[in-house]
Amino acid sequence: MEQLLEVKDLVTSFRTAGQKVPAVRGVSFSVDRGETLCIVGESGCGKSITTLSVMGLLPNNGEISEGSVKFNGEELTVKKKDEMRRLRGNEISMIFQEPMTALNPVFTVGYQLMEPLKIHTKLSKAEVKHKAIDLLNQVGIPNPEKKLKQYPHELSGGMRQRVMIAMALACNPALLIADEPTTALDVTIQAQILDLIDDLKEDLGMGVVMVTHDMGVVAEVADHVMVMYAGNVVETGSVEEIFANPSHPYTKGLLASVPNVDDANQLLEAIPGSLPNINEEISGCRFHPRCPFASDKCKQEDPPHFTLNSSHQSKCWLLEEVTEHESRNKAFS
Ligand code: SF4
Ligand code: MG
Repeated sequence: MEQLLEVKDLVTSFRTAGQKVPAVRGVSFSVDRGETLCIVGESGCGKSITTLSVMGLLPNNGEISEGSVKFNGEELTVKKKDEMRRLRGNEISMIFQEPMTALNPVFTVGYQLMEPLKIHTKLSKAEVKHKAIDLLNQVGIPNPEKKLKQYPHELSGGMRQRVMIAMALACNPALLIADEPTTALDVTIQAQILDLIDDLKEDLGMGVVMVTHDMGVVAEVADHVMVMYAGNVVETGSVEEIFANPSHPYTKGLLASVPNVDDANQLLEAIPGSLPNINEEISGCRFHPRCPFASDKCKQEDPPHFTLNSSHQSKCWLLEEVTEHESRNKAFS
């Protein structure tokens, strides 16, 4: 499949109290057209900062200090603010957890949906209205004509989320970045919105980057999964590999903390401890203070990414022997 987004060795830092603190510490991934990558991890692990870096939407005290972000082969980290703004209105769209941050309370839904179409397309006034109604239909909003005249506060949370998705899709983006898009919604609406994003990915051939802390959401929509911990990528793989053969202790912990709806007696195995502060320097593997398998080596040396197969990598010393063993086998076969 055609590669859409390629992020390489991304380091994003923040200046706080005269200090430069890395929140994202060398992250690499790629997304193809028609593919969904889920970025997972606890809140504060660097998921959102990674996507904000891609979008050129970092707060003023944040900056990309190393690495590259290529979209359709074009380097984004060198683009000017207005170039990035144009790209965000057209080819890259973003949806957030809280639709009210994206919707303006003082304008009608119709105005907010149609204004970007007027700016970014050559459609006539009538065509713009037609397209807006089409979009609301596409995201499953009933009575679209009536909704165009309403204000965001007159809609339910699920409807607002759908409006935001319609806005994000207005210019047929090649890439959709969704940060916890369903976290605030009830389960039924959540399932509908995830289905919708999945259908649109297939129908429009969009690439999707979805940020979530919910492994249930991952199981539902991901093709590939990237697990982050304390600013690092700790494991990447296809969704099948991550669920069937998780290899990093943190990934295993995330999976174990998913409640099993079929087994009411199952105990939730939370991961003990909490994420370190982003400015906390930790020797060796950054997960070692919480890892039940931490050895002396883990406390001293930061593990590299070990390759289990071409699409499955894990940043954990436990994989050293297994992967060495595998490559040795390969050498003799
Ligand atoms: Fe745990 Fe060591 Fe693996 Fe880090 S490298 S996750 S501390 S076993
Ligand atoms: Mg976040």
